[in-house]
Amino acid sequence: MKEFWEDFCKGILCLWQFPQTFVACFLLIYLHDHDDIIRVYSFGKRNKKVIVSRRNYCFSLGEFIFVSEKWNITKVITHEYGHSLQSEILGIFYFIIFLLSVSYYKFDKIFLSHLRQVYRTRFYYNLPWEKWADYLAGLKRKNRKISPAVFIM
Ligand SMILES: [Zn+2]
Repeated sequence: MKEFWEDFCKGILCLWQFPQTFVACFLLIYLHDHDDIIRVYSFGKRNKKVIVSRRNYCFSLGEFIFVSEKWNITKVITHEYGHSLQSEILGIFYFIIFLLSVSYYKFDKIFLSHLRQVYRTRFYYNLPWEKWADYLAGLKRKNRKISPAVFIM
């Protein structure tokens, strides 16, 4: 009976994350058709599927973590694992975080490009949804503090 309820909960979780999974499936087909998938493996207690590809991006959609081959390192995968846990919690509302991240990426390119990369990275991982992803995945980062002196350059 316990197995039944575990499977039932997995089914509900699939429905809850359906939009992400749906988009991820199309992306998987696209990557497969272009022969861009290098490796697939499971990660974390929740067995998320990590799709290592030749494309230059890292993000989570539903049960899948898409990562470029050059960013296939434990710290990045762990952070993305945190995003996939956010997806489980937020369901369809996870797309808000997804859009915020994409928007911030553009904001960074336009308004923060004059700052050193180390500060830009620090800003990024101090954003509330990024901190939350780290927290959920149990990822601790050093040097989270941002000095006001960064702006005087
Ligand atoms: Zn992130």
